[in-house]
Amino acid sequence: KGRNQRQRLPVVPQGIERDVFMQALSELKDELGEENVEINDKPLVDGWYMEHPNTHDMMTILDEEELVASAVVYPGSVEEVQKIVAWANKYLVPIFPISMGRNLGYGGAAPRVRGSVTIDLGRRMNKIIDINPEDYTCLVEPGVSFYALYEALKERGYDHMWVDTPDLGGGSIIGNTVDRGVGYTPYGDHWACHSGMEVVLPTGEVIRTGMGGLPGNNTWQCFPYGFGPYSDGIFSQSNFGIVTKMGMTLMPNPGGYESFMYTFPREEDLAPLIEIIRPLRIAQILENVAQLRHVAQSVAVLGRPRSEFYTGSGPVPFSILHEAASKSPIGDHTWAYYGMSYGPPEIRAHKLALVDSSFRKIPGARKIDPSTLPADDYFFSRDKIAAGIPDIHELRWVNWTPNGSHIAFSPVSPIRGTDATALFKLGKELHDKYNIDFFPAFIVGLREMHLIVEIVFDRANQTKKKEALDCLRELVHEAAKLGYGEYRTHLVLMDQVAGTYSWNEGAVGKFNEKLKDALDPNSILAPGRCGIWGRRYRGRGWEM
Ligand code: ADP
Repeated sequence: KGRNQRQRLPVVPQGIERDVFMQALSELKDELGEENVEINDKPLVDGWYMEHPNTHDMMTILDEEELVASAVVYPGSVEEVQKIVAWANKYLVPIFPISMGRNLGYGGAAPRVRGSVTIDLGRRMNKIIDINPEDYTCLVEPGVSFYALYEALKERGYDHMWVDTPDLGGGSIIGNTVDRGVGYTPYGDHWACHSGMEVVLPTGEVIRTGMGGLPGNNTWQCFPYGFGPYSDGIFSQSNFGIVTKMGMTLMPNPGGYESFMYTFPREEDLAPLIEIIRPLRIAQILENVAQLRHVAQSVAVLGRPRSEFYTGSGPVPFSILHEAASKSPIGDHTWAYYGMSYGPPEIRAHKLALVDSSFRKIPGARKIDPSTLPADDYFFSRDKIAAGIPDIHELRWVNWTPNGSHIAFSPVSPIRGTDATALFKLGKELHDKYNIDFFPAFIVGLREMHLIVEIVFDRANQTKKKEALDCLRELVHEAAKLGYGEYRTHLVLMDQVAGTYSWNEGAVGKFNEKLKDALDPNSILAPGRCGIWGRRYRGRGWEM
């Protein structure tokens, strides 16, 4: 965006002299090649989703200079990752691994500690090592995106297998999975669907988890557990290792599919509707991770700026949202449910009939006929995603404000009407308090749902950024008082969210610290990520 008045001097991680750091970087250049060590001394360019920066968060909620890398390095092999780790231990430099860095809404490519050296694994380590058409599995490196895997399946003529993709398909499969992101087919729980990892530990050793520990095995991608403790869990949402390979299971092509969309008229329909959804979802009559979206989102995803609808300073009034939505399929209704039924027509018919009779118990419920919709309607984006075809239509709602950026509040609850109402009410009240438009969507997993609220803000407007962050902090705090915790969070909220998991005097946090100190004695790997600080950082004012 060219509005950065940035010094040309790169940031230096705290605790190391600039000269020593520069010397250390040239040593790293000798190891990796000049072109694979990039000092971050140029103006910060935000780009956009497909051309995102790897030096900082292009959607920062803080000052742009806060969470920036001092340098970005590009390893080309596991051995080079080990070299970088050895180097970081020698000079006590914080390193921050990313796969592709498209983790928008949760920090993008930014490191948690300013001046960290970012390891951009994806640039050179981007091979699909294996796709196994008999076992329906694959083994990928960090730079493999959902798009790339999808394309590879098409190229190889493997029509019998599907990929599961998140809302935006440009991200890394490994990056999304280790952050426990979700997609929208029956394989939407990416973490549950992975099998086997290769991990470089913070002290440089390489391990393979599950069956990967057994030389000559042919089961690494078929059986996730192996023998002994199941260690994969500690490498998700943590800072205990650098994942260099991961296995993923692929869904069998179900032999047909059909998207459906229902709308429901009133805001108060939320609770009875969620009650209807729960047993259907748990029984897998509703077969995929489905979305229940509010009219505000239906308006925002039209991709038009808010100013076209409303120029007042507070949240856009309900009546204006409805007016704005009048030409979209949600029309004068308040909730839109997007789902998909899988299998050949005769299999689908029974499930769809059950869904239909259940959903119609809500007075006024409408089923939308897709043949009445224009080709660029959002419905068709959901349709693609639920069929494992990557897409980026979802991004359109960042046009809501100038310099549109977003940051998420994502609490988990059971699939219950009372919980949905409590979270909706909390979200609405706090958004009103901070003058923010409220975009709630309920993402229904199997026995739980995440409420995903994306706050869209203008990153060039300091006041708006502060309001958004204050609102988020209060949401996390108030939700925790009601017993709700986040399933995932942005870098700047990690300490706070980790702090809400405080049972038994924060026993789980202490356990994480113990693991951290054992695995990473010099506290070099992604300090502070997910609220876990190694001993060199603890109690020194790094938390925020
Ligand atoms: P995506 O490319 O899907 O957007 P990112 O690369 O941004 O995902 O990954 C999200 C977060 O997960 C990163 O900020 C990082 O902390 C962590 N992460 C990503 N890839 C790895 C990896 N290979 N090893 C360890 N942690 C990782």
